[in-house]
Amino acid sequence: MVAPIYSTLESWLELNLPSVQKPGRYVGNELNQVRKDWDSVKIHAALAFPDIYDLGVPNLGISILYDQINKRQDALAERVFLPWVDMEKIMRRDGISLFSLENRIPLDKFDLIGISLPYETLYTNALNLLDLAGIPVHSRDRTSDHPLVIAGGHAMLNPEPMAPFLDVIVIGEGEEVIHEILDTLITSKINRFDREKTLIALSRITGVYIPSFYSPLNDDAGMYLGLNTTSPKIPRCIQKRIVGRLPEPVTDFIVPSVEVVHNRVAIEIMRGCTRGCRFCQAGMITRPVRERPLDQILDTIQVALDKTGFQEVALLSLSSSDHSEIKEIVQAIQTRFEGKHLTISLPSLRIESLSVDLLEKLSGSRQTSFTLAPEAATDRLRNIINKPISDDALLEVTRLIYSRGWRVIKCYFMIGHPEETMDDVKAIADLCKRVVMEGRKFHGLKATLHAGINTFIPKPHTPFQWRAMDSLESIREKQAYLRRELRGPGLKMTWADPQTSLLEAWLCRGDRRTAEVIYSAWKSGARFDAWQDQFNFDLWKDAFNQSGIDPFSISHRVRSADEVFPWDHIQIGVTKKYLLEEAENSQSGVLRPDCRESCYVCGVLPAYKKIRQENPGSHWGCPEVKAESIQP
Ligand code: SF4
Repeated sequence: MVAPIYSTLESWLELNLPSVQKPGRYVGNELNQVRKDWDSVKIHAALAFPDIYDLGVPNLGISILYDQINKRQDALAERVFLPWVDMEKIMRRDGISLFSLENRIPLDKFDLIGISLPYETLYTNALNLLDLAGIPVHSRDRTSDHPLVIAGGHAMLNPEPMAPFLDVIVIGEGEEVIHEILDTLITSKINRFDREKTLIALSRITGVYIPSFYSPLNDDAGMYLGLNTTSPKIPRCIQKRIVGRLPEPVTDFIVPSVEVVHNRVAIEIMRGCTRGCRFCQAGMITRPVRERPLDQILDTIQVALDKTGFQEVALLSLSSSDHSEIKEIVQAIQTRFEGKHLTISLPSLRIESLSVDLLEKLSGSRQTSFTLAPEAATDRLRNIINKPISDDALLEVTRLIYSRGWRVIKCYFMIGHPEETMDDVKAIADLCKRVVMEGRKFHGLKATLHAGINTFIPKPHTPFQWRAMDSLESIREKQAYLRRELRGPGLKMTWADPQTSLLEAWLCRGDRRTAEVIYSAWKSGARFDAWQDQFNFDLWKDAFNQSGIDPFSISHRVRSADEVFPWDHIQIGVTKKYLLEEAENSQSGVLRPDCRESCYVCGVLPAYKKIRQENPGSHWGCPEVKAESIQP
């Protein structure tokens, strides 16, 4: 029996919570929380989102795993988030160990801690979370008495910078693999396996990467050469896990007792993207496309609204308007929930698939603004990045949106693309002004165009992984130009902090040596790196200086075609050969539009042939190809 620290914590919390911001972050007891008897189950999982409660509660990945684990009779999952700096300070002062929200159990009493790492600027937070729980941050310092520290999420598609801190890394989708991991851990617990034997058993699961079984090789100049395995039985490559069908969606969303970033029913209507934008990592690593059926979407919304009382429904996907039944979905939601005054949000819309029909259907809902992502404003650059949307098409869509009563449109652009010139940047400003002029025809000076300016990062597993990032000076110059141009009535601009983008590039492309830089930055005080008021770039520069690694060789070096990348052992389905072909196509301006119309043989079908055969039907974006015609 683990002694909950509930009673001792109770008085500590009572005494101290009034002195911190948003005390409700730390007390749990929300509607739809699952609080099981600790001793009634065989295995205990803490699900950690390494940022504050406000961001962690609406996180769909955590909600899915919480739901999957708690549906089992033999397991429980409890949530943990990182305390904000004020709470951390008093916890450290009083020696209070990080605890779960449900039963208030110290984290080191769980069998496993599952950390969600969707983006790299959470890395120092993950170390901080372990440290606040009294768990050694390096995997090598943990023993069989410590929980297994497992991580997953998009950032783990290059796991090497975090490898020394994690016992187990899940590559890909978690809904099925989590059950295989739990079953293995239960067997291991019953048979009293030591840590090594447990890890060996876990390494046999597809999609599970045990970093301690691999040692990286670098030459004298520091060039990465590849990985050695500690035993011939350990797989040399890890294949990303996928599910053949999207599993039953979550309905019992936690209803938070304090304000969080989203209070809504979130339903993933489609996973994957077939558009093939060459800068977009998410589009490459989430293939194949799998759609959720209309009936399941409607039934889920019905149950979830009843269970939560939320008034917003978010239809999530990388490109929601690309769902083959999107109009029917929106129409059916309007019909079934008429009079409920729901807000339907489609956070990512593809300009080509945003039809008049869909707009008509959405005009009955309370969607507050539209978000479009043209990413580039000249045809030349659009061809390079494989996102060919003409100015005319964009202006037509924005005219339609404004004409149906919406006053605010958000448009995302990216600067620093390969081959970008100042003319491409000037075209962004010109296009934004033309968009707002369309709005003025309907709303006068109240029409608004909100331009979000991101910075290109040559992300792993993309056709641009061989390219270099734009220089800091050039990015600053381009941002300054756009800031000067995009001001005045109806024009708003937000932009990514260039130093944060640079850090993201270093962390997403790094090899295992980067881990000690992360450790050293965290030891010097780096945490909450995604928060502008907490981010300290100098700490990172110092940490790189001490390590002897030139970070600009990570972000700003053009790679040759035969370069071995630190993430090459992670197989996402899309082959390196295909990515290279796409890199060449970008140079010659060759377009590859939506692959649902014509398969370009990216590698996904051969990699997941068996799963495709077991899941026939049009819910996959990939064709049903006969087994014998699939080339490896
Ligand atoms: S296998 Fe073909 S259809 Fe499927 S994601 Fe790859 S290119 Fe697209």
